[in-house]
Amino acid sequence: MSGKTILIVEDEKPIRDMVAFGLRRAGFEVVEAEDCAAARARIADRRPDLVLADWMLPDTSGLELTRQLKRDPETRDLPIILLTARAEETDKVTGLEGGADDYVTKPFSPRELAARINAVLRRGSVGGAEEVIEADGLRMDVAGHRVMVGERGIALGPTEYRLLNFFMTHPDRVYSRSQLLDRVWGGNVYVEERTVDVHIRRLRKALEETGHDRLVQTVRGAGYRFSTKPD
Ligand code: CA
Repeated sequence: MSGKTILIVEDEKPIRDMVAFGLRRAGFEVVEAEDCAAARARIADRRPDLVLADWMLPDTSGLELTRQLKRDPETRDLPIILLTARAEETDKVTGLEGGADDYVTKPFSPRELAARINAVLRRGSVGGAEEVIEADGLRMDVAGHRVMVGERGIALGPTEYRLLNFFMTHPDRVYSRSQLLDRVWGGNVYVEERTVDVHIRRLRKALEETGHDRLVQTVRGAGYRFSTKPD
């Protein structure tokens, strides 16, 4: 089916086996690593299409692995999904300024995991382009995976980051919720349209303190628009 290669980084063999089994059934090729050092060796060996890394690993955390890979120009574009077990880990992942392309909280069904992987693969990693996008003093450093206003960093969850990235690269146009789902979430069937509103609200909240929430505009009956021009 997809033929894409997924690298699973997980030290607990029963979980790794279970995830690998599910992904093979979903048509993926699977490569396994038991820790970050092994993961980096596998990536250097043969680059996978996506990395699925557990948060809890014996050497370095999955989060730190994500940071390392996103810092390295060679692996910056490699999409990463983090597996988290506890609410506090999820909080940290969602609070990340840069890093994982998505995260999945345990327990998850093999179908849901495959759907999330496909969604990330379809839209590609948000990292990559060597550029800084700017709108009214709000700067997105795409290569550094950072959003700044002056010297101040704006903390965004992975979804809010992607949403803002999409808006900043497609300004002054109205997008419906379903168009945003398609473009930002990769048409993930597990996401409902009202999820868009939830993330719009979080994005606005994150931008509120510097007044940039005004750039995320509601267009009644149509959807949302990102614009530096008044609403
Ligand atoms: Ca683990």
